[in-house]
Amino acid sequence: MSDIRDEWIAMMQKYRFSPERADNERFWCAKLDTASREELRFIQSEKLRVAVRYAYECIPFYRRKYDAVGLRPDDIRSIDDLPLIPVTTKLEMANDLEQHSPWGTYTALDDEMWLQRGWQIFASSGTTAQPRAFRYGQFDREMWMWTNARAMWAMGFRPGRDSALIAFGYGPHVWLWGVHYALNLMRIPIITAGGLDSSARVRFIDRYKPTILACTPSYALYLASLMREQGLDPSASSIRYLFCAGEPGFSIPSTRKRLEETWKAELHEFYGCTEAAPSAGGYTCAAVAAQKDGMVSTHLMEDVQIWEVVNENMQSLPNGNRGLTVVTNLCSEASPQLRFLVGDYTTLTHEPCVCGRTHARAVGGMLGRADDMLNIRGVTLFPSSIEDVVRGIPTLGPEFAIVLKKERDLDVLIVQVEALPEIPTDRYIEIAEQVEREVRASCELRAAIEVLPQGTLPPTQFKAKRVRDLR
Ligand SMILES: [Zn+2]
Repeated sequence: MSDIRDEWIAMMQKYRFSPERADNERFWCAKLDTASREELRFIQSEKLRVAVRYAYECIPFYRRKYDAVGLRPDDIRSIDDLPLIPVTTKLEMANDLEQHSPWGTYTALDDEMWLQRGWQIFASSGTTAQPRAFRYGQFDREMWMWTNARAMWAMGFRPGRDSALIAFGYGPHVWLWGVHYALNLMRIPIITAGGLDSSARVRFIDRYKPTILACTPSYALYLASLMREQGLDPSASSIRYLFCAGEPGFSIPSTRKRLEETWKAELHEFYGCTEAAPSAGGYTCAAVAAQKDGMVSTHLMEDVQIWEVVNENMQSLPNGNRGLTVVTNLCSEASPQLRFLVGDYTTLTHEPCVCGRTHARAVGGMLGRADDMLNIRGVTLFPSSIEDVVRGIPTLGPEFAIVLKKERDLDVLIVQVEALPEIPTDRYIEIAEQVEREVRASCELRAAIEVLPQGTLPPTQFKAKRVRDLR
């Protein structure tokens, strides 16, 4: 093993406080979770210097990239030098992958090392390009358990009281694997439900009484409707926490309200990406989740990742400006990406949270990847804005679809929604008019609304596919 890899691992271990158990009721790792800005900047700078040398020596993709712009690892002395590092995009990774199938050259585990130190592969869901698989290592799993336990401790999950049902198929999607291992570390038991169909999961909730349900927001709503069909009431169930990821949820007011009211539970979420695991990336805390009105925010974990927002020209923006998220990953042996463009619009603040955590937060949460943004007749639209309208209308079910067409060279926006079973069809016209009015008011777009009986659109089993662009 190379010296720089040893040096990198030693640096990770140096700042891995409280690896086994929580320090106290409020913080898993009080020393890091409440560190001052100066302390955080110091830790980030120390880790960054080693990370840049590590990437240069162990990741061919980064060596080529830095050589091309004349960047030497020694040029990076602190996080003030971060802007010298060029931003990396998914497209660059996809191009590299085409030339170096099947793994690309943008990670630090080669074939030999994968067999010695590998843990699992995870694949990107790939909205923009062909799926990219990432080989993560055993050391990553340890870091992951620790960072995710810190985040889930902030949510209020506790051993001795809670148990969790993880509703996913244990496929290559990244986040619930990390949740699984972190729950093990926290000694919170798991109701094993991978591979079960949704009806069986409903029966497991009813019978084994988990307090935490982990799944995508769309799936939580689908599972609730299935529960009602089986004569059970989700709001009377044992679930007290909904723990979501994979799609925006917490930051869409009417989706959050619908989830919390349907399940009579507190909504929490993780935010991150396959490329820069193993960490929660972003997470909600109990204090912010308890505020039902007002601005939401998502915590970031700055001792293990550096978060920035950039403008369309990839220039770093000062705090308080809305921009696209960029992450520098200081905690993965396999995938220590430097200034990777995750690409969600948000605004960062360094104001400490009421929960006592001092790290940066994303104000307003995350509303979806810029890749998902639609351009309709020159107006930009996030599918989440349509979602906020649909989920706020009590006569409608949770599913919806956005269809885009061209008619005589003009973009046509069609929104398909589903009326609840108890709504008579003679009310569909009135409902369509209401949806049309509200879409126009909140998105400044005219839309044709199709009201369908519930069950017409395919139910969401994992991540929802909301948009069909036929233009
Ligand atoms: Zn907080």
